[in-house]
Amino acid sequence: MKVVLENLTKIFPSRDKKAGKEVVAVNNFNFEIPDGQLVGLLGPSGCGKSTTLYMISGLQKPTGGKIYFGDDDVTELSTENRGIGLVFQNYALYPHMTVQQNILFPLQNLKGKDKLSKQEMLDRALEAAKLVQIDELMDRKPSELSGGQQQRVAIARALVKMPRVLLLDEPLSNLDARLRLQTREEIRRIQKETGITTVFVTHDQEEAMSISDVIVVMKAGVVQQIGKPQEVYDDPKNLFVAKFLGTPPINVLEGKVAGGKVYIGDSAVMDVNGVEDQEVYIGIRPEGIEPNENGVFECKLNNVEVMGRDASVVSTHPSAISTVIRAIISSDIRVDTSKETVKYNIKPHKFFIFNKETEERVYFEVK
Ligand code: ADP
Ligand code: MG
Repeated sequence: MKVVLENLTKIFPSRDKKAGKEVVAVNNFNFEIPDGQLVGLLGPSGCGKSTTLYMISGLQKPTGGKIYFGDDDVTELSTENRGIGLVFQNYALYPHMTVQQNILFPLQNLKGKDKLSKQEMLDRALEAAKLVQIDELMDRKPSELSGGQQQRVAIARALVKMPRVLLLDEPLSNLDARLRLQTREEIRRIQKETGITTVFVTHDQEEAMSISDVIVVMKAGVVQQIGKPQEVYDDPKNLFVAKFLGTPPINVLEGKVAGGKVYIGDSAVMDVNGVEDQEVYIGIRPEGIEPNENGVFECKLNNVEVMGRDASVVSTHPSAISTVIRAIISSDIRVDTSKETVKYNIKPHKFFIFNKETEERVYFEVK
């Protein structure tokens, strides 16, 4: 089931009437979520992710715009009639009910032609429990489960009605690091197995990158960029997107373009054809610089952190906006740490420039 968002907008009135400033939580969101795909809605806290999800679910009414499930306009449809499954950060299970009763719960209210027999309900609940691998725990109460298991129950409860669309709002935030990793792989597997169109909200770029077919990067209610995770990482449209994706984060410096060359301080570091002279921000991915004695980009060397397979060369530069300039290299490469400075070669496809005022990407041809 594809989901279409058309000029979707949500404006909250000011909480303080006198101050009078309304909040545009979601501003003119246009996107067609392809059938059967997992879309990661990504952005910092307060950028409008949950509001978008709640509008898709029907829990919140848009101020403007439309939502379609397939060809059906569902904008005015109630949550119960949309055929969605919802999972929140805090699993919100009924504490006095067993796992089985929790999963059965959404089926017990089905009416008319959707009404199921007792046996059908039990079969469906078991099927959903098996999918999330908690079928051994059916008789336990939520308090007798780990966080990860509770979240699986919440997912089973969302799946049991066989939703047309699955909506997940930061479902892994309450889990510890290892469980988070494991549960996100589970969610991916379940999504692939069921083929349910899924929207997955997270502020964690690594989580979104690893799980999504498509990511949507948002900032202050406005969609910044939509694409396959790797494509957005490799080709960010603006400085915000470049900075938001990637760990360790992209190195950012101030610089300028003059006469077809990019300068950091007085050093020309890259030839860029067909770009007008301008002040720019320069973004260089940590995997995009390599120590080399003939390198064009010289920094003050701080130290080298070796972490198993990789090493991180930590350096500084007076033009840098980021506190350090970090290079990720293979730990097999030796860097002479007795030296005061380190010179880097720059890989052109890991090097981006952005207009200083607009922070929009300035494109150039890689020679
Ligand atoms: P996210 O999920 O990305 O953290 P939200 O969608 O929850 O962001 O919120 C987006 C913006 O809308 C924030 O500025 C938030 O304060 C505001 N907001 C959310 N819900 C309400 C509400 N019920 N009333 C007023 N403002 C709200
Ligand atoms: Mg939220």
